[in-house]
Amino acid sequence: MKTILQMESQITKGITILGSTGSIGKQALQVISEYTDLFKLKALSAHSSIDLLIEQALKYLPEMVFIANPDHLSRLKSALAHTSIKILHSEDELYDTFHQEDLSMVLLAIVGFAGLKPALKTIEASKDLAIANKESLVVGGHILMDLVKQKNATLLPVDSEHSAIFQCLQGEKQESVEKIILTASGGPFFDWPAEEMKNITLKQALKHPTWEMGHKITIDSASMMNKGLEVIEAKWLFDLRPQQIDVVAHPQSLVHSMVQFTDGSVKAQMSPPDMRGPIQYAMFYPNRKQARLTRFNFSEALSLSFKPVDMKKFRNLALAFEALEKGGNIPAILNAANEAAVEAVLQNQLPFYRISEVVENMMNEMNFVLIPSLEDLEQTHYETIVKSKELIKRKN
Ligand code: NAD
Ligand code: MG
Repeated sequence: MKTILQMESQITKGITILGSTGSIGKQALQVISEYTDLFKLKALSAHSSIDLLIEQALKYLPEMVFIANPDHLSRLKSALAHTSIKILHSEDELYDTFHQEDLSMVLLAIVGFAGLKPALKTIEASKDLAIANKESLVVGGHILMDLVKQKNATLLPVDSEHSAIFQCLQGEKQESVEKIILTASGGPFFDWPAEEMKNITLKQALKHPTWEMGHKITIDSASMMNKGLEVIEAKWLFDLRPQQIDVVAHPQSLVHSMVQFTDGSVKAQMSPPDMRGPIQYAMFYPNRKQARLTRFNFSEALSLSFKPVDMKKFRNLALAFEALEKGGNIPAILNAANEAAVEAVLQNQLPFYRISEVVENMMNEMNFVLIPSLEDLEQTHYETIVKSKELIKRKN
């Protein structure tokens, strides 16, 4: 006879993937394809990768699809005309589907500030939110977490560090947590002398030593802004004070993060680096399922090393801690300036080493709002983007 837990884990889960054409989205679909009997694919969405979205729709047969860029709508319609897949025409129509009874979970794999609204819409609909999009927590953590409490909703971290901490916290009490230690691979420039950072090229910055990811997060990892964003993400997810968050470099990316408890004991979560691990953990939580992922081989020598991070060299990390301390709309300013700077770096309009200059300038220049509403955050975001672009143009 099956236990209740086993029966629960056999129930088909309705899932929507926002940003299905990205690095996380594609890996989430791989996880689903291993467990087709346990998931019902409700909707897939993308911004403009129309060919891949069509390919995914034909392969995975979701109930619905949505493309954010309306230029591609007619292509989507004609490519799927012979199927029963419903095409959603607007963001609002997509958000309405979050209220459908057979939807259990939304996996938010959109990159950037654009993730904030769908995160809020998912929680408003009282659905589980598996959150890969860290920017939404950085910008609107206070609004998002208040809503989570109000709706008694479930927020499941997908970012590998936060999934690691979440796993370490299972069965523990909040008051037992002394601090968390976020690990950072250090990116490609960790050991570079500070004076050589000015010579970094886009090609070098796009080559991450341990993870294959979307362009923005790859640049963020190289500049350490990713870790800075993750510090703020952790504050909101785990209700921590800034002093309770440490960062340590761990070049092997095998220990995904750690929790130190009040008795001095430290728990770490380890696995070979593969985002399908944390994605699958979030999708099946609180159960664990078989996964065909690489195992450690402890019969071979394995070294783990940990080193402090030089926050003078990686100024972005210091700026993120500053934004966290100051609060209000400052993290939103940090995030928006970074989004604008990274876009400029990707278009070869700004040298990589000047990202932190743009971010710091904006943090000093923009108006401070202590308790920003959603509208305040949207205004802060778009104004900061405009001002950052002006600054980047002036400096060119
Ligand atoms: P990506 O660039 O590979 O993919 C982004 C996806 O979002 C694409 O499907 C794109 O079409 C969609 N998208 C972008 N803007 C959109 C908009 N305005 N509306 C709707 N859809 C939009 O990015 P990624 O590497 O998969 O990262 C996604 C998120 O997950 C980021 O917030 C990132 O920080 C986080 N994350 C990624 C990884 C990773 O290994 N890639 C690890 C941890 C956290
Ligand atoms: Mg991470």
